[in-house]
Amino acid sequence: MGELKRTRIVNALSSEGIGSEITVMGWVRTKRESKGGFSFIEVNDGSCLTNLQVIAGDQLPNYATEVLKIQTGCSVKVTGSLLASPGKGQNVELKAEKIEVLGWADQEAYPLQKKRHSFEFLRTVAHLRPRTNTFGAVARVRNALSMAVHRFFQDRGFLYVHTPIITGSDCEGAGAMFKVTTLDLAKVPLIDGRPDLRSDFFEGPANLTVSGQLEAEVYALALGDVYTFGPTFRAENSNTPRHLAEFWMVEPEMAFCDLDGNVEIAVAFLKSLFSYVLERCQEDMNFFNRFIDPEIIATLEKLRSQEFRRLTYTEAIEILSKATVSFEFPVTWGSDIQAEHERYLCEKVFAGPAVLTDYPRQIKPFYMKVNPDGKTVRAMDVLLPKIGEIIGGSQREDDYDTLLERMKETGIDPAAYWWYLELRKFGTAPHSGFGLGFERLVQFVTGMANIRDVIPFPRTPGNVTF
Ligand code: ATP
Ligand code: MN
Repeated sequence: MGELKRTRIVNALSSEGIGSEITVMGWVRTKRESKGGFSFIEVNDGSCLTNLQVIAGDQLPNYATEVLKIQTGCSVKVTGSLLASPGKGQNVELKAEKIEVLGWADQEAYPLQKKRHSFEFLRTVAHLRPRTNTFGAVARVRNALSMAVHRFFQDRGFLYVHTPIITGSDCEGAGAMFKVTTLDLAKVPLIDGRPDLRSDFFEGPANLTVSGQLEAEVYALALGDVYTFGPTFRAENSNTPRHLAEFWMVEPEMAFCDLDGNVEIAVAFLKSLFSYVLERCQEDMNFFNRFIDPEIIATLEKLRSQEFRRLTYTEAIEILSKATVSFEFPVTWGSDIQAEHERYLCEKVFAGPAVLTDYPRQIKPFYMKVNPDGKTVRAMDVLLPKIGEIIGGSQREDDYDTLLERMKETGIDPAAYWWYLELRKFGTAPHSGFGLGFERLVQFVTGMANIRDVIPFPRTPGNVTF
C-alpha cells in the first residue's frame, strides 16, 4: 500500500509531532458519542499498547453515513492534525479531517466485544486475539526477547547456525517424537509386520527434531561459539500450562568451554534478557505488572543484580532432605529434582535464583561429561523462583570411549550416531552448551500463567487449528 503512507501510533503518541498533519491506520477498539456532535474513537495499530484517541466531528462529510456506524473491530484510515489533548489519560489526540473505513466489522458476529474475555475463550479465536491488549503486549515482548537473544550472542561473536527440523536421530530421547513420512497411511508397505520405511521419502525413519544440540556441537567444534534458535517438537501427551508440542528453543554451544564457563554465560544471558525487556518494553511490562502479576517488574529488576547461588546436586539433596515441608516426590540421592524441590530451594532457602550442577549420571542424558567420581555428570540447571528450571545444560562428553560406554548404558544406538562419535575421534575438545525453552522465558518475563498464551498459535494435544 505504497500510497497509504502512515504514521505509527507509537510515534504519534510521542507528542513530538504536535501540530503536524498525519495519517494513521488501525483497528477501532471503542467509540463513544459526545453530545456536541462529536465522536471519540480509540484506534490501535499494534505499534504500542496505548490507543490514539481520534476526535471526529459532524463536519466530516461521511459523519452520519459512516462515522456514526463505526464500531469495535473496524479498520480505519484517519487523516488529521495532532493536537495536545486537554483530556485526562492521553497527551495527544488526532482531530480528524478525513476518516475512511477500510473494513467493517459486524458487531453481531465480531467475537471481541469491549468487555474482558477469558484467555480460554481467546484461544478459540487465535486469529483475532492479537488485537487485544494482552496478546499485543505478549507479541511485542516476545519480539523484544528474540532480538535480545540474538543481540546477546552476536555481541559476543557467536554464529547463528540453522540446525535441521527434520532429523534422523532422536537426540537424548528428550520426549516422544513426531514421525515424518510421505507414505500413504491407508496402505503402508509392511515388512515383518512393521512399516517398511525403505520406500519412504528418506528411505528410513525420520522425525521432527526435539533439539538442535547435537548438530550445534558439530558447528561449535569447527567455528567455536555458535547458537541455534528454532522450533522443536515433542509429542508428549502432557496437557500442562508449561508444555507445548511445538516450541522454540535457544541452544548455544561453546568450544573450549567447561562447566564454569557455561554457568557464567547462562547467568549473563538471563540477566541481559531481563534488562533488555525492562528497558525496551516499559509500557507493556507496566501492563503485565498491573493486570497479570503485580510482582513481575520487581522480580526481574532484582534478578538483574542478584547473585545466582551455585551448588551441587548432592548439596541440594542434603538441604532438601532436611526440609520441614513434605514433598510429593521423595528426596533421595539418585532421584530427579522436581519442580517443587526447585521452587523450595529458590523461594524458601535462597530467596533467589540458583544453579545446580553435577547430577547423578543415571538421570541425565548420554552426552553429558562424566566426572572423575564416575557417579555424576557435569550438568547444570539454572533455577528461578516461581518456575524452577529455565535452563538446562552441561559440559559435553569429549572422550570417545566414555561417550560410547554412556550410549550403551542409556540404550542409544552408537551406529546411528557415528558422526557424533567421530567428533571425539578427530580433534576432540572440551565444549559446553545449554538449552533455554523460549516460551518458558516469555512466560516468566510476562507472568502469563499458561504457555498457550505466549506463542501465537499453540500446538497441543488435539489442537492444531489456525
Ligand atoms: P520438563 O521437565 O519441563 O518437561 P525437560 O526436562 O523435558 O522439561 P529439556 O529436555 O531439558 O526439558 O528441554 C530444554 C528446555 O526446553 C526446558 O528447560 C524447557 O524450558 C523447555 N521445554 C521442554 N519441554 C517443553 C515443552 N513441551 N514445551 C515448552 N517448552 C519445553
Ligand atoms: Mn519434558
